[in-house]
Amino acid sequence: MRNVENWLPCWCLHSLSLSLSLSLSLSHAQVIARDRLVGVLDRLVQQQYGKHVTVHRGVACTDVSWLEDDSVLLTTQPTRASDSEVATGMISRQRPSLLIAADGAARTVADCLEASEAKRGKNRGILSLFPFSRRFRVTRYKDDNRRVYKTIPIKFPKGWRGDLNYSARTKDGRINIDALPASRKNDYCAVLLLRADDVMAAADTDPAELRALMDTSLPMFSPLIDDATLRAVAAKKSSSLPAFRYVGPYLHRGTSTVLIGDAVHTVKPYFGLGANSALEDVIKLSQSLDRHVGGDGAKSEGVRGAGVAAAIEEYSKQRAPEARALVQISREFDRPGILGFVTFILPLILDGLFNGLIRLFIYFLFSLPTA
Ligand SMILES: Cc1cc2nc3c(=O)[nH]c(=O)nc-3n(C[C@H](O)[C@H](O)[C@H](O)COP(=O)(O)OP(=O)(O)OC[C@H]3O[C@@H](n4cnc5c(N)ncnc54)[C@H](O)[C@@H]3O)c2cc1C
Repeated sequence: MRNVENWLPCWCLHSLSLSLSLSLSLSHAQVIARDRLVGVLDRLVQQQYGKHVTVHRGVACTDVSWLEDDSVLLTTQPTRASDSEVATGMISRQRPSLLIAADGAARTVADCLEASEAKRGKNRGILSLFPFSRRFRVTRYKDDNRRVYKTIPIKFPKGWRGDLNYSARTKDGRINIDALPASRKNDYCAVLLLRADDVMAAADTDPAELRALMDTSLPMFSPLIDDATLRAVAAKKSSSLPAFRYVGPYLHRGTSTVLIGDAVHTVKPYFGLGANSALEDVIKLSQSLDRHVGGDGAKSEGVRGAGVAAAIEEYSKQRAPEARALVQISREFDRPGILGFVTFILPLILDGLFNGLIRLFIYFLFSLPTA
């Protein structure tokens, strides 16, 4: 667990300096790559909670509906071995007493909940217009700053610290590279971030052109990547980043369903906030469950008791505004060119200016001679 507790957001802008300064001032600062964190958590669950938790691999939830009594009905299907996103084979249905939806940016549960609430809203007629019956919605933003990425395996030379996030960004904003430790033996996984319309973002690009770009723009990384690896990177398709999105005004339904993590709030990975906020959701939800259900309470009351209802409602009230703020603020930072200036930087400048003016005004007001 130490790895997880000490893990700091590092795939963010200026992350090299951030990691370095944190590492120097807090000797325990560590970084971990996303997929490695998944592996760490997977092992931890099996080792420590294996008796209570069963992990089903290769199964996707394809549909969710809510019955009259608000209990939840889950439809699941095995996925194709070669592609974890394609569901195929026997459909089965389950009625869990509590569904904690952590299906990330794929958001199957959130989408189903939105559709179900829209239907419920229609049935409520005029009542649905009142603020107290505000409907669950998914706020989706059009991505006006599309970036894609390619991953590059890198072996750092002996003597380099193996617990740092190494990153660099070109001044013109064309490329961003972030390398995170993938093993204890100086194996790193670098993420090369490019604009979606960059020539190098396509598959089957010219390796010589990519090498030339690396040599001029990222000379500190280029010598660490051998020709075979670079050829493979040039050949492969880039992957997309999830677009900004959040759900609200609440994150639960009745006593049966609650959402956490990227399923609630999706920000672009380079903010280095997604996993941390997902872990924060987990902490808040478990604190609420402890407070309202507790050890023996869960047994005597049954999982769907009033305690669970109070816990998921409390969690929802705490986290929904946080989710909205996280996505809206990160997105304003991400707006390209003038949009970013008008919507984020200009308000800050004006705020500073008017703050100053108000102080000046108050100063003059109080320094006026009294009659
Ligand atoms: C390339 C990349 C780099 C990143 N780097 C950072 C970083 O440095 N720092 C940081 O804080 N964040 C980073 N993030 C973001 C971070 O990974 C996410 O915010 C975080 O993983 C969210 O956790 P989650 O559990 O909510 O969702 P996920 O980690 O996405 O987990 C969702 C899980 O649900 C499964 N799933 C999806 N749909 C279904 C379905 N229908 N049925 C069954 N299972 C389903 C998925 O297979 C997946 O296993 C990065 C993301 C990417 C893509």
